[in-house]
Amino acid sequence: MGKVTGFMEFERIEEGYKPVAERLKHYKEFVVGLDESQAKVQGARCMDCGTPFCNNGCPVNNIIPDFNDLVYRGDWQNAIEVLHSTNNFPEFTGRICPAPCEAACTLNVNDDAVGIKSIEHAIIDRAWAEGWVQPRPAKHKTGKKVAVVGSGPAGMAAAQQLARAGHDVTLFEKNDRIGGLLRYGIPDFKMEKSHIDRRAKQLEAEGVTIRTSVLVGKLPEGSKVTNWAKETISPEQLKKDFDAVLLTGGSEQSRDLPVPGRDLDGIHFAMEFLPQQNKVNAGDKLKGQLRADGKHVIVIGGGDTGSDCVGTSNRHGAASVTQFEVMPQPPEVENRPLTWPYWPLKLRTSSSHDEGCTREFAISTKEFVGEKGKVTGLKTVHVEFKDGKLVEIPGTEKEYKADLVLLAMGFVNPVATILDGFGVDKDARGNAKASTEFTGGYATNVTKVFAAGDIRRGQSLVVWAIREGRQAARAVDEFLMGFSDLPR
Ligand SMILES: Cc1cc2nc3c(=O)[nH]c(=O)nc-3n(C[C@H](O)[C@H](O)[C@H](O)COP(=O)(O)OP(=O)(O)OC[C@H]3O[C@@H](n4cnc5c(N)ncnc54)[C@H](O)[C@@H]3O)c2cc1C
Ligand code: SF4
Repeated sequence: MGKVTGFMEFERIEEGYKPVAERLKHYKEFVVGLDESQAKVQGARCMDCGTPFCNNGCPVNNIIPDFNDLVYRGDWQNAIEVLHSTNNFPEFTGRICPAPCEAACTLNVNDDAVGIKSIEHAIIDRAWAEGWVQPRPAKHKTGKKVAVVGSGPAGMAAAQQLARAGHDVTLFEKNDRIGGLLRYGIPDFKMEKSHIDRRAKQLEAEGVTIRTSVLVGKLPEGSKVTNWAKETISPEQLKKDFDAVLLTGGSEQSRDLPVPGRDLDGIHFAMEFLPQQNKVNAGDKLKGQLRADGKHVIVIGGGDTGSDCVGTSNRHGAASVTQFEVMPQPPEVENRPLTWPYWPLKLRTSSSHDEGCTREFAISTKEFVGEKGKVTGLKTVHVEFKDGKLVEIPGTEKEYKADLVLLAMGFVNPVATILDGFGVDKDARGNAKASTEFTGGYATNVTKVFAAGDIRRGQSLVVWAIREGRQAARAVDEFLMGFSDLPR
């Protein structure tokens, strides 16, 4: 344990943000991380609990008390070793994880949690700066070939683990760059894409073959999911050419809002809007980018994706940005005795909200209205829970002006044709059916085909995708070799 009395002596320090007026002018990251001495003090706050709830609250089970202590002692090189032992990409989670570990931290019972995420962020950024993050190619090759389909955090983590176990891994991606939603979804101001490019180089140096712009299977006619494929490979071909196939294609089917007027121009899925800005930031020239300049923007959906639409619309120079959430406004402060160590229900205000946004809660859209085929507004009504059901409150009908409506209501399931192409059974929610049990974990009903990440568990978080990618890699390794030394 770092400093025995640290948690009583030192306050939690939050990472800083550059001023709103400055950060709205660009798409770069604006979080100001902890410096070395601040990180040391934050590490000193950790109590090295006998039962570290943080470790259990973290989906990749980061060994948090150990790296907190190492940072306190100034042993940053061992701190990154500990962090990498459970998490392939701490620079992703150190930036965009909602940090369930902090909700679970024992200090969070009656004080401020240890700033675990900010310490993680400081460790990995320093490790890259010092040159401590290097490729770790396998010493022995197994001669087995594995195809990983989908290059989001689940696919990247799985590919890295499998290559380190000595397999010949090919990572297929239908888009023109790897990273999944980290690349085309999450805005650059939350996570710059150079972090993914650096890891892509590391993967290649470890022997992973990356094949972008290759669609495995097919998408339905008129599908709106991102797809910059120039080539198609059939599932049959993949099964023939590889000893195992791991599906990590995410949950890409956006939830729609089929109310009257939905076919008007100016109503788009968030995932039509956000990836275009990612592409422009990467230097691509787009014809007719979907933009919010001077428009009254309504974002429907109160989660991360909606918040990212808010931040992007404000950077475009929207005239106004309003975000709707159908659920009632949660309390500003959680009921800790009731919720700790679990993820609490409370009002979450993101940095994008701070940049300018009107938030409406308990509101439902009944109709889109328009002129000459173009959306001009929407009709809404407020709702409340009655007998466990959301019901409309009479007399609360209202009309909002809108030139651009962004639908950010989550994702219903993976694209069905991809799973059907492999003959993979689906669960009741349309996800790939595969349990996570140790023996036979992540295996689908189809021999040698496995599934992990959002394609299996449904829409989730980057940290869960990394966990599933790592665990599935072990399951594939066991399937191929009869045993596995990979960590679970
Ligand atoms: C806008 C937005 C913001 C988010 N913000 C956060 C956040 O702040 N923090 C957080 O933790 N989580 C966030 N999430 C959720 C997080 O991004 C996902 O849970 C995570 O990326 C899932 O990882 P994955 O690897 O399972 O799938 P994905 O990241 O979806 O990657 C799947 C990849 O597979 C490719 N693919 C699919 N089918 C095929 C095929 N047939 N052939 C070839 N390639 C294929 C896709 O093109 C895609 O690149 C956000 C999601 C969105 C949409
Ligand atoms: S729960 Fe909090 S105080 Fe306890 S070991 Fe984990 S980070 Fe440290």
